[in-house]
Amino acid sequence: MEKRDTLIEVRNLKKFFKVGDNTLKAVNDLTFDIKRGETLGVVGESGCGKSTAGRTMLRLYEPTSGEVLFEGKNINKLNRQELKAMRRNMQMIFQDPYASLNPRMTVADIIGEALDIHNLASGAKRKERIQELLSLVSLNPEHMNRFPHEFSGGQRQRIGIARALAVEPKFIVCDEPISALDVSVQAQVVNLLEQLQEKMGLTYMFIAHDLSMVKYISDRVAVMYLGKMVELADSEALYENPLHPYTQALLSAIPIPDPEVERKRERIVLQGDVPSPMNPPSGCHFRTRCPKAMPECAAMEPVWKEVKPGHWAACHLFN
Ligand code: SF4
Repeated sequence: MEKRDTLIEVRNLKKFFKVGDNTLKAVNDLTFDIKRGETLGVVGESGCGKSTAGRTMLRLYEPTSGEVLFEGKNINKLNRQELKAMRRNMQMIFQDPYASLNPRMTVADIIGEALDIHNLASGAKRKERIQELLSLVSLNPEHMNRFPHEFSGGQRQRIGIARALAVEPKFIVCDEPISALDVSVQAQVVNLLEQLQEKMGLTYMFIAHDLSMVKYISDRVAVMYLGKMVELADSEALYENPLHPYTQALLSAIPIPDPEVERKRERIVLQGDVPSPMNPPSGCHFRTRCPKAMPECAAMEPVWKEVKPGHWAACHLFN
């Protein structure tokens, strides 16, 4: 991958929730960077902490500990006013576009609200800007006075994208933006996000629950399991030479279009369910399902380290 400067630095980020007498370690010590202009795909089964990580990075959740630096600035140290200004740079697109859009507001109100919060346009300029944003996401600007229910699922996701773009952000966390859409519409939304990235120099963190969804959009991909990152690498390296047994298992589950290759494909079937994040296994959290588990995997947590240039993994096979 070409050399790009770093937009976001995440250092030892943790987000724990108290649940009764227990502690849910939703995000447990993440350290990684996101480069300006890249798409970082983040993948993992539900409950692995990927959405919580995205929200904590935008400070929609206060972190339990650790740091998030945006262009070198620690966002956890910002006061309310500074945070509001920073929010312009960092936006989120949600999984369920219908639930994330107020059904009683018109599209113009929804997008206009984002403009109002940051005093970005008023009067005729405001209307012009709303129409411009709708055109940008390939929606008819004349439909600005319609309500969310008058649009299809894919169109509603476009409204969510237009709302995020209204404040001219640099970074967008796309939280499973295509998972709730029909397969036929998924590619259109991914294409739109890619076009917008090129046009506006956007940086994305693209969260998805399986590796096939992020394959084409991501420059690099991170895999999460029970609150931890287990592997992070350039997409090509990760798909062609996965190091971590969990990534290998996830990849082995993706069907290959070539029938000849598909016939010979070896599947790694993981035993058991994902353990509760409330009570993860000792040592390596993946050890109860790992086909390569060794005695030390129960005793010690593997270290998150750069195994090859740009290729990170947390596994005793590489410690
Ligand atoms: Fe498997 Fe051990 Fe590596 Fe964990 S540390 S992924 S249990 S080999």
